[in-house]
Amino acid sequence: MQWKSQLHNLKAYQPGKTMEDVKEQFSLEKVVKLASNENPYGCSPQIQNFIYDYASSHAIYPDGYAKRLRMKVAGHLSVEPGQLIFGNGSDEVIQIISRALLDPSKSTVMAAPTFPQYKHNAIVEGAEVREVPLDEEGRHQLSKMLDSIDGTTAVVWLCSPNNPTGEYIRKEELLHFLDQVPSDVLVVLDEAYYEYVTAGDYYDSISLIESYPQLVVTRTFSKAYGLAGFRVGYGVGSRDVIGKLEPVREPFNNNSLGQGAAAEAMEDQAFIEQCREKNREGLQQFYEFCESTGLKYMKSQANFILIDFGLSGDEVFQYLMSKGYIVRSGGALGYPQSVRITVGSREQNEELISLMKEFLAVIKQS
Ligand SMILES: *Cc1c(COP(=O)(O)O)cnc(C)c1O
Repeated sequence: MQWKSQLHNLKAYQPGKTMEDVKEQFSLEKVVKLASNENPYGCSPQIQNFIYDYASSHAIYPDGYAKRLRMKVAGHLSVEPGQLIFGNGSDEVIQIISRALLDPSKSTVMAAPTFPQYKHNAIVEGAEVREVPLDEEGRHQLSKMLDSIDGTTAVVWLCSPNNPTGEYIRKEELLHFLDQVPSDVLVVLDEAYYEYVTAGDYYDSISLIESYPQLVVTRTFSKAYGLAGFRVGYGVGSRDVIGKLEPVREPFNNNSLGQGAAAEAMEDQAFIEQCREKNREGLQQFYEFCESTGLKYMKSQANFILIDFGLSGDEVFQYLMSKGYIVRSGGALGYPQSVRITVGSREQNEELISLMKEFLAVIKQS
């Protein structure tokens, strides 16, 4: 077979252990997964009626234009319907952008560590990947990213709040970056955690599209909206940019159930506000734990926190898993001494924090 040469060293996505696996392996009754930044409160109860009503239309193809969802999102964001592209998760929007703009003659610039799918898709397309390290605080170094752009650069990926650090790009830096970046370079601002942001100085990224038509903002229904299983994400950009991306999209990439559930969920902004509030309180629990134990951590604008244990993150991960809490080891995320924890419910956070205290006590003795 004549595979693209870049595929020889590319690994398929490694899914973590399922809750069932962990239950069985450690003979546990209860397992809590705080590893993939899913919403511990589920999703808006308002989607239930839609789900039941839908039960009889499975033989019909979905609306390839996602009109109902499109109108809801356009209204919510005050953009035109033609400024939106929907994907099977924002993962697919990333894939569409990569497919549309990257090839072996192109380069693409991103931070490191950041969300791995930018790099993964760039490799599949054969483009040169230029990674610019985050600074000590887990923030993008936008001036260095600017320096890495040259005539071959087609796409720059920004992630704010950044996964896995939770840090966000500051407004002044973003504006300065957008002012400097060549106008034929597409800038993707991945805001998968936008709904969780509470920083007073965070920007209205959507409104920037008017002044910076090369900007595409991506968001998702997988995180705060609690619909990860339905796979719905979207990109917002100028009509020109979206119009160029649309032909690359599969015609029926969003299934009917996902479209409907997302449209219902968007109506219930009170649910999102409650989740944002509870997430803030949950982060506070973890901050207090870190302060009291002297562990280093990064202030987060997302629904997860990266905690530096100063020893193998894998070891912390293994210990917590054996007690029924699945978190994410920093090993695979570019922070081998850390774990990334999704903020859970108050009770889950409390239980996890006491397990981490227990772990620290065990470590001290040995
Ligand atoms: C989770 C995540 C996504 C992908 O979410 P989808 O489920 O594909 O919409 C994209 N970007 C970042 C930074 C994420 O953390």
